[in-house]
Amino acid sequence: MEYVIAHELTHLRHRHHGPAFWLTLAEQMPDGSTRKAPLERWEVQRREL
Ligand SMILES: [Zn+2]
Repeated sequence: MEYVIAHELTHLRHRHHGPAFWLTLAEQMPDGSTRKAPLERWEVQRREL
């Protein structure tokens, strides 16, 4: 949940998922990739349905 909020707040500064977007997000949330992993697993499972 916090990851999603940080992600969306980063979109206020960077419209697209470019390198600057991920850099800003990493500055706000250094453990972002750890938090993102369960969401990515969920997305993969959803696609397989
Ligand atoms: Zn996004």
